[in-house]
Amino acid sequence: MKIAPELDKILDKAWSGIPLDRQDCKYLLSIDEKSFESGVLRAAAASIIRSKNDNSAIILGQIGVDVKPCPGGCKFCTFGEDHTGFKESRLSDEELEEKINSFCKDGDLYALYFMTMHEYDLGYFVNIVQKAKTLVPKTTQLWANVGDSSLDAFKEMKKAGLTGIYHVCRLGEGVYTKLDPKDRIQTMKNALDAGLKLYTCCEPIGPEHTVDELVENIFIGIEMGVTQHAAMRRVAVPGSPLAKYGQISELRLAHIVATVALCSVTVPTMAYVGVHEPNTLSYLAGANFITAESGANPRDNQGDTSKNRGMDMARCRKMLFECGFDYIRRGDESKIPLDLDYLIKTDSMG
Ligand code: SF4
Repeated sequence: MKIAPELDKILDKAWSGIPLDRQDCKYLLSIDEKSFESGVLRAAAASIIRSKNDNSAIILGQIGVDVKPCPGGCKFCTFGEDHTGFKESRLSDEELEEKINSFCKDGDLYALYFMTMHEYDLGYFVNIVQKAKTLVPKTTQLWANVGDSSLDAFKEMKKAGLTGIYHVCRLGEGVYTKLDPKDRIQTMKNALDAGLKLYTCCEPIGPEHTVDELVENIFIGIEMGVTQHAAMRRVAVPGSPLAKYGQISELRLAHIVATVALCSVTVPTMAYVGVHEPNTLSYLAGANFITAESGANPRDNQGDTSKNRGMDMARCRKMLFECGFDYIRRGDESKIPLDLDYLIKTDSMG
């Protein structure tokens, strides 16, 4: 069976390491995710990404360290100040330490993120990073998922031991959020200028987003020089104002992940491709990092997501194994064979 000449040409470029442009991205996103050609696209993305990395994947951990009605006001998020039912709270020192130890006890976590609301206390956050630095193995990096921040704030975080940040300029930023897209982009620049690595994502994708909107969003990260790129679908969290639009399927998400992977793989700093929330279709479409979550989570109306939507380390290892990855990489890029013995040893058989 033949595939369309345009797709053939784009995949040839991707195989040859030639950067894809916006037109290529638009073409890929316009393909029906239920078609044979989408299957070819997803298989090609997985094959190209895995061939660059010895068929290895990484596990990231995220801990939401505080919760409050958030002035970011994002209409898709469970913490937006105009619709949230959450009251202000913070993890205690003991809870934080227990969560860090639980993520790190087997020594195979690539990086640990600490997530705050849009406004956060820099001193408190820096203390968390310093404390975490004494608890995590040397092979686990520390990252931040915080609100818009200055160059000086990031320099301070870097001094405390931070390697990078997760930050996005969301689809509909400034329309469905109370935040300014310019501030979001400036924050990413500030992080890069402070010497931190940048991980971004095309998010939160809903059924109403057009191909052109997705293309523009995906290329923000590509043009800034990301280390990790990803795609995330918007979860129709009950009670959040955009829940009425529903959500895209995991198959459509996997198709978008494959497109993100092929469009970003030639960025010189690019290392890993992700998907939120984890699903097997996307790990067969180019994604190679998975996130375990604990504490607050914008996609969950449970205060501690590890009791609801969030996946733990064991389930993450099992999913990567089932999707055929041969290794888990630690934060120093060393590799651990991912086989049945390892799953048994880490109590990950489920
Ligand atoms: S997504 Fe982040 S910035 Fe927006 S309301 Fe939720 S916690 Fe606040």
